[in-house]
Amino acid sequence: MLLEGRQERAPNTIPVIDLLAPGLLTDAFRRPITYLRISVTDRCNLRCVYCMPEAGLPWIPKAEILTFEEIERVVRAAAPLGVRSLRLTGGEPLVRRDLPQLVARLAAIEGIDDIALSTNGLLLADLVEDLRAAGLRRVNVSLDTLREDRFTAIARRPGLDRVLAGIDAALAAGLGPLKINCVVMRGQNDDEVADFAAFTRERAVFVRFIEVMPVIENAALQREAYIPASDVLDRIAAGGDLQPVAGPGGNGPARYYAYAGAPGAIGIISPLSHDYCETCNRVRLSADGQLKLCLFGEGGIDLRTPLRRGASADELGAIFTSAMAIKPERHHLDLGKPASAMRALSEIGG
Ligand code: SAM
Repeated sequence: MLLEGRQERAPNTIPVIDLLAPGLLTDAFRRPITYLRISVTDRCNLRCVYCMPEAGLPWIPKAEILTFEEIERVVRAAAPLGVRSLRLTGGEPLVRRDLPQLVARLAAIEGIDDIALSTNGLLLADLVEDLRAAGLRRVNVSLDTLREDRFTAIARRPGLDRVLAGIDAALAAGLGPLKINCVVMRGQNDDEVADFAAFTRERAVFVRFIEVMPVIENAALQREAYIPASDVLDRIAAGGDLQPVAGPGGNGPARYYAYAGAPGAIGIISPLSHDYCETCNRVRLSADGQLKLCLFGEGGIDLRTPLRRGASADELGAIFTSAMAIKPERHHLDLGKPASAMRALSEIGG
C-alpha cells in the first residue's frame, strides 16, 4: 500500500456483484455503468482562465435547478440498477447552500457506498466536518498553482491559503484518498510541475495532472496552453526515481506513479493524447436535470420534466436503462476544437 491509512477504508471497493447481470446498467459497448456524477450548481466562486469567462456565464435560473429531493429521487432510481458511487460537482458544489444535507440524504440510500466531492477548496475547511459527518468519503481538490500571485491570475480571484487549509482539513478529517487536480498549461503553470510532484513527498495525496480540454469558451487558450501528458511525465521523471503504482482504485481514468518512499503519488489524466473511453463507467446529471451520457457528447436526456410530473422510481429507472443504448463509444477531442456545444465544464459538471 502506498498511502498511509488507505487500508482502513476501501471507498472504491467494487461490490461483489455481476456487473453485466440483467437489470444492471450496461451500455451498448458492454461497459457497466456504476458511477453517477451529480452537478449541484453551475455557479462558481472562481473564474479559472481555461474554464469560464471573467464575467461568468448565463447561470441556470434557480427554478430550473434540481432540488435536493429531486436529486435524491434520481439516485434512488439509479441505485437498484447498479450505480454505487456518486460524486458531487459543479460549478463549485460548496456554494450550494446546505450541501451536507444532500450528502446525508444520498448516503442513506441503499446500494450507495461511495460519495465523493470535487471542489476548488475555497470553502472546504469550514464545511469539512459537516460533510464528513453527513457521509462524505473522499474529496478531490482542484489546484493549478502553489503561488499566490499565480493563483489570482489563473483563478481570477485570490484564495490559495484557503485552498491549502481546505486540503489539510480534509486530510485531518480522513477524507481520503485525497486527490489534487492540476490543469497544466504551457507558459502559465507548467514550470510548477516539479513543485506539485514534490508535494507528494510531503503529503499522502494523489496529485493528478490533467491536459487542458477544449470547450467553446477556451478554444484559443487551449490550443496554446496544451501540453501532452507524456511531456509532463518526462519532467516529473527527471525529479527522481519514479515508478508506476496502483492508483486509489475505482472510478478514475488516471495512470499513477510515485517517487521511492513518498507517501503520495502522481496521476496523469490525458483525455486528448490517450483517451480512456473504453473503461468509461459513468454518466452525469447536470444541475438542471439533464442526464448526460458523455462529458463531450451532444445532448442529454431530460429527467427534470418526468421528476416534476411525479415519475416513480421505476419510471426514472426505465429512462436510465433506455439511455444506455445511446451512450457514445468515445469522445472526439482535438486541439482547439470543442467536441460539443458545451461552453465550459461547469455547465455539465466537470
Ligand atoms: N469547482 C469544482 C472544482 O474546482 O473541482 C468542480 C467543478 S470543476 C469544472 C471540475 C474540474 O474540471 C476542475 O479540476 C477543473 O480544473 C477542471 N476543468 C475545468 N475546465 C477544464 C478544461 N477545459 N480542461 C481541463 N480541466 C478542466
